[in-house]
Amino acid sequence: MSAAPTAQGYDDVVARIARAAQAAGRLAGAVTLVAVSKQQPWEAIEPVLAAGQRVFGENRVQEALARWAGKTAAGGLTLHLIGPLQTNKAKDAVAHFGVIETLDREKLARALADEVQKQGRTPRLYIQVNTGEEAQKAGVIPAEADAFIAAVRGAYGLTPEGLMCIPPAGEPAGPHFALLRKIAERNGLSKLSMGMSGDFETAIRFGATSVRVGSAVFGARG
Ligand SMILES: *Cc1c(COP(=O)(O)O)cnc(C)c1O
Repeated sequence: MSAAPTAQGYDDVVARIARAAQAAGRLAGAVTLVAVSKQQPWEAIEPVLAAGQRVFGENRVQEALARWAGKTAAGGLTLHLIGPLQTNKAKDAVAHFGVIETLDREKLARALADEVQKQGRTPRLYIQVNTGEEAQKAGVIPAEADAFIAAVRGAYGLTPEGLMCIPPAGEPAGPHFALLRKIAERNGLSKLSMGMSGDFETAIRFGATSVRVGSAVFGARG
């Protein structure tokens, strides 16, 4: 079943973000909505774009390029890469994404640093932390985060602006959000990408500066 061609879900999420921010004593503008358009039909995306949303999240480089090719006419579009990045896609990722949220290993830091130099283009970077230390999940484990952040800055000359996490399914997300915040604070990073459809209001309470929301905005993925 495809999503209805309205921006109803989008409007609701925008209102919920504003309310959650206000409840946490923060400005609504302090939280950026990254509308996760992965696996969505264009009919679901179009009304959201028409409603003014310009920041979109995608988890695969090739799928994103296919979906967004020629759509830059909307102007001011920023794509966030929120899925694992293979080094052989670093070139396309640096060329087409405004933000890469999934930096999690030195080999990738090197590939990104090389592309930044070659292309003269610098996407904003987030380091993904595997707060639940799940074997199947990408991200640096918490115990190695400080050293990895230092290496990204030192050895690779990159300037990450924040951290990103995906808490384990079926666990309260709050402690994971709190841990991510703690790691960011002690490393002088100001941005926190955390919170999805099921928990973005909790994430805002814990200090999220951006939330990645897909199904609540667009409807269930096909
Ligand atoms: C798919 C995805 C989201 C959005 O998930 P929803 O539950 O649909 O909001 C957020 N973050 C990441 C990393 C994702 O892969």
